[in-house]
Amino acid sequence: MTGPNEIKPLKLILGVFLFFSFLAVALSPPELKPMAAPPAQVDQSPAKRLKVIVIDPGHGGLESGAKGKFGALEKDITLAVALKLKAVIERSLALRVELTRDKDTEVSLENRAAIANNHKSDLFISIHTNSSYRRNARGSETFFLSLNATDEEARRLAYLENNSADLSKPLADEDQDEIRMILWDMAQSAYLKQSQSLAEIIQDELNSLLGTANRGIKQAPFKVLTGVACPAVLVEVAFISNPEEEKDLVKESFQSNVAEAIYRGLVRYLKIAG
Ligand SMILES: [Zn+2]
Repeated sequence: MTGPNEIKPLKLILGVFLFFSFLAVALSPPELKPMAAPPAQVDQSPAKRLKVIVIDPGHGGLESGAKGKFGALEKDITLAVALKLKAVIERSLALRVELTRDKDTEVSLENRAAIANNHKSDLFISIHTNSSYRRNARGSETFFLSLNATDEEARRLAYLENNSADLSKPLADEDQDEIRMILWDMAQSAYLKQSQSLAEIIQDELNSLLGTANRGIKQAPFKVLTGVACPAVLVEVAFISNPEEEKDLVKESFQSNVAEAIYRGLVRYLKIAG
């Protein structure tokens, strides 16, 4: 049996103990919780939602690409069209658009693919202007990657685009071997079907814009496309080697029309690709 005289000090000790315990908890710095592991990002939707598009303005810096009779440079036109395309996509679609270059700088073909992959690009569109020894060659052509070119002209064009830093060099057998070696390990091979579909739709839009007969989509060993790990196309907007088309290519209105046509193609592609 405990009398009132024994209980009082016990209560007091307990009270003081509780008070200080409470104070200790109240004044202690907030405990750092261990970082919870982020929830696993499992995409269970049937079609992957596209988020990032990389646009690649061909050439740049000292490497100016093809040159027109009146002095237009491919590198300037490709950048102008790419910037317009970026603007129209960002204005209308909830997609992030990255460029492989946004000014007049030189970027290697390998780095263009690396930039796309680093951004986890869902689509890659390389912009170029065409060049042919046939003065009257005109219209747009859209390419997707292949080890073998559709025809001799496509093969020659791929060679020019792959080696535009040295256009005067003759097309030798070693160069073809080099292309084959680079293509040996290509990320793009997994996306050829989607790339073909994107190429067809963009080409269709460009044909209606330019009122040209359908030149059709083509395949060629373009080095810039080989390492890209997503559907990828290369658009030859028009022929800078054709004086009439060169005059169009430098016009801002024409460049905007081309950007709009590629954009319309993109919207159509997104509908079928999710
Ligand atoms: Zn080019």
